[in-house]
Amino acid sequence: MKIIFTGVGEAFDENLPNTSIVVLSGDRDNQQQVLLDCGFTAAHAFWRLSPAPQALNTIWISHFHGDHFFGLPLLLLRFWEEKRTRSLTIIGQPGIREKVIAAMELAYPGFYATFRFEVIFIEAGPNRQINQSGLDWSFAAGRHSQRCLGVRIDGKSGSLYYSGDGQPSDETTALARGCDLVIHEAYGMEPILPTHGSVNGSISFGRQTGTKHLALVHLNCQVRKENAVLVRRQLAALEDTHAFLPEPGDTLNIAEPLESSTR
Ligand SMILES: [Zn+2]
Repeated sequence: MKIIFTGVGEAFDENLPNTSIVVLSGDRDNQQQVLLDCGFTAAHAFWRLSPAPQALNTIWISHFHGDHFFGLPLLLLRFWEEKRTRSLTIIGQPGIREKVIAAMELAYPGFYATFRFEVIFIEAGPNRQINQSGLDWSFAAGRHSQRCLGVRIDGKSGSLYYSGDGQPSDETTALARGCDLVIHEAYGMEPILPTHGSVNGSISFGRQTGTKHLALVHLNCQVRKENAVLVRRQLAALEDTHAFLPEPGDTLNIAEPLESSTR
């Protein structure tokens, strides 16, 4: 399972694309490509950094804030522009179909009906298991200003958890336990914001779940500007976990940790 961090920023970050992650799995003859979240600045980054954008099979949308799903109209329109014919699956919370089509109609009225590819929508929720793109998917709600689902993805060569937005909950902690990789949002330094994760909260989440790799994303842009060096030092000092602050384009092979090219 190979991970590409196409974006690691939050909504207001003028330098980093919105948090968005490509997951590659399967073998050479049957490679599967998944995109986790697609905010308003994520689609261009996806095209820049995915090794084969048209091969995208599945998109996960954690919740309906713009920096997590408003990139979909552009992404879908480019598939149309490039004459895509293979189907595309979008997984998200109940209402995902209506939200995506409404966003598409606002951005590019009339185009959705002319797509030559089928868009398949799958509704996700806690206590629901899905098999998609050869991977097992399960979900739990964190604590955010809008309902947001953390997702766990298990494949033959590894497992990962991605928080979307929000502070951890008992349910997300249980869901992520034992994953090879945890990708957690860390908007602030300390866990004082009721609806967002933090650097120190994510570190203790990493400890509680026993993850091998811990990637912190979605830092408030000012917090990241002022504290990136400090945070990197703090993460590097952790003994039991390979913890890091990825940049766009960084990759991680969670089946073979030595191939990691993260900084
Ligand atoms: Zn949000």
